[in-house]
Amino acid sequence: MSRIPRIVILGAGYGGIVTAIRLQKELNYNEADVTLVNKHDYHYITTHLHMPAAGTDKPENARVDILKLIDEFKVDFVKSTVTQIRPHEKKVILEDGTLSYDYLVVGLGGEPETFGIPGLKEHALNIRSINSVRFIREHIEYQFAKYKREPDRKDYLTFVIGGAGFTGIEFIGELADRIPALCKEFDVDPELVKIYNIEAAPTALPGFDPELVAYAMDVLEKKGITFKIGTAIKECTPEGVLVAGDEFIKAGTIIWTGGIRGNHMLDEAGFETMRGRIKVSEFLRSPQFDNIYIVGDCSIVMNDEGRPFPPTAQIATQQGEVCAYNLIASIRNTEPKTFKFTNKGVVASLGKRQAIGVVGSRKLKGNTAAMMKKIVDMRYLYIIGGIPLVIRKGRF
Ligand SMILES: Cc1cc2nc3c(=O)[nH]c(=O)nc-3n(C[C@H](O)[C@H](O)[C@H](O)COP(=O)(O)OP(=O)(O)OC[C@H]3O[C@@H](n4cnc5c(N)ncnc54)[C@H](O)[C@@H]3O)c2cc1C
Repeated sequence: MSRIPRIVILGAGYGGIVTAIRLQKELNYNEADVTLVNKHDYHYITTHLHMPAAGTDKPENARVDILKLIDEFKVDFVKSTVTQIRPHEKKVILEDGTLSYDYLVVGLGGEPETFGIPGLKEHALNIRSINSVRFIREHIEYQFAKYKREPDRKDYLTFVIGGAGFTGIEFIGELADRIPALCKEFDVDPELVKIYNIEAAPTALPGFDPELVAYAMDVLEKKGITFKIGTAIKECTPEGVLVAGDEFIKAGTIIWTGGIRGNHMLDEAGFETMRGRIKVSEFLRSPQFDNIYIVGDCSIVMNDEGRPFPPTAQIATQQGEVCAYNLIASIRNTEPKTFKFTNKGVVASLGKRQAIGVVGSRKLKGNTAAMMKKIVDMRYLYIIGGIPLVIRKGRF
């Protein structure tokens, strides 16, 4: 390859943006042409989205302009939607053009996995992007307004959240905090509002420390959440959900947080996937194409027991660092680095000043865990935008 190698990064989520930022820092002048493609001109902080979705924070606080994070002299930013990946031709097709690459990084994030449950795809909302959370926030307020016009329709005030993983639990914590303000604004008796969290697995927050899970459920039950754990959703309709035991819960709002899969374009491109995710090599490469790296929710990395790590922002960020390193190694013909995930701790928010977490061997709960969540958030802001971004976006 005598000309300058072209690196194309698809997606400016956690994995993609960190790859781009590391490349712009480490690459020498004219060592590679780097292009970052994203469908919006902002990066969103997905781990904050449960707040604007519930209406306890503004969507603006969960987004950062991409041009504030990258140096345009070193990375070309293309605001466009990727429609196809053609790995054999080393091309990606955008809605408005085509890009050729020598090295490709796929960081397009995940998509909701509905496990074939009828009606979920059509009738449930998902917390996935700035646009989706704007919609959810407006939808929630609209249910209160509708109830005031049709007071016999109490189901407008019923909320079903499918899935008691991280996203579901963090969202119900925020929603429960928002309800008193909404009731006040719309003159609604708070007793009429029902929030159900429905989970098919035998526990909420599977994989989390059981003592902390019990604490979280206690906190959330006191905020008015009704849990239905070990209860599968069998069908979703425009009116509500049918759950195991043939109980039908009528609800004006159904939000599905119960599963995530990789981007559908990977299957369409002929990659071997497991639910749209690619089991990457130790160097984060596609096993089929040595010049394609996969980061974040589109990838699968196995733990020491041979089970996939859950897709998280933490793992995507660490992959971004190693992916950039290995791209540079490929260009310079030096040794690549093996990716090894270092778990820096996990914290789940339960709403205002409440959280649970495990950091090292320490279990945290309550306000201490909530403070730890803020530290984790600020650390990420620091990684992508340094102190100026921490000051601008960090909520102290
Ligand atoms: C509400 C919520 C709370 C969460 N909380 C936590 C948490 O506390 N801790 C944690 O570690 N993880 C958390 N996660 C998981 C974490 O957010 C994801 O694992 C992480 O965002 C994955 O990063 P990624 O780089 O794969 O993709 P993403 O961050 O999802 O970014 C993908 C990017 O690709 C872009 N894109 C997608 N399709 C196209 C296309 N066709 N063309 C162009 N651009 C495209 C998107 O606009 C986006 O910018 C949470 C997730 C959610 C939804």
